[in-house]
Amino acid sequence: MAGIRENLANIRQRIRAAAARCGRNPEAVRLVAVSKTFPAAAVREAFDAGQRDFGENRVQEAEAKWRELSGLGVTLHLIGHLQSNKALRAAKLCDWVQSLDSIRIARKLSDAAAESGKRLPVLMEVNLGGEEAKSGVSETEAPVLAEQIAKMPGLDLRGLMVIPPLTEDPENARPYFRKLRELAQRIEARGFEGVSMRELSMGMSQDFEIAVEEGATIVRVGTAIFGRRPAQ
Ligand SMILES: *Cc1c(COP(=O)(O)O)cnc(C)c1O
Repeated sequence: MAGIRENLANIRQRIRAAAARCGRNPEAVRLVAVSKTFPAAAVREAFDAGQRDFGENRVQEAEAKWRELSGLGVTLHLIGHLQSNKALRAAKLCDWVQSLDSIRIARKLSDAAAESGKRLPVLMEVNLGGEEAKSGVSETEAPVLAEQIAKMPGLDLRGLMVIPPLTEDPENARPYFRKLRELAQRIEARGFEGVSMRELSMGMSQDFEIAVEEGATIVRVGTAIFGRRPAQ
């Protein structure tokens, strides 16, 4: 398998190509390298190859890893479900939270962020597949939560995130990406004070090129950069 540097170069090239295919500016797509389960050394290797945005899905794991990496100027995105008892630690550690999915957790996070003098950029995670086992708000709850989050002083709502149902064929994700974009437009059209729906976080190793074609501004790529994760 190629090294992290080669993988990153390859992914960036494929993002540029996908953006070019649909007349988008490739600079408008932020690549988040998902380093969950990989050690600090892997993050450092990616950093040395110019990568600056990283994604982790567990606060505890990220804290331990980031302690080893202190001083490295990176942007850390929380992309996994946040438990309310970890809100304070998440607000301290993370630069973005992409997985906001309830008013209760949003309140806790907002209070924690405000306490540390931060206004934390957040995305709402939407469960478009209606999957029981997945976190995320439903399509109908999303505008309601958006209106609430907009009033919270510690949070800066920037858009939506989705993890489509797992399938073999990446093309199956396309309708979900489209649906997320349309939902963002509908929420934007409601004109809630302080709500922006500019950011669409969608697309992973399997389907990030399709997501870019459908308007992703953030893609979250793990396996294609760091290699396969041990089964959890
Ligand atoms: C693990 C994870 C990713 C990365 O998935 P890959 O298929 O390894 O690229 C992206 N988003 C979320 C929310 C994840 O948990």
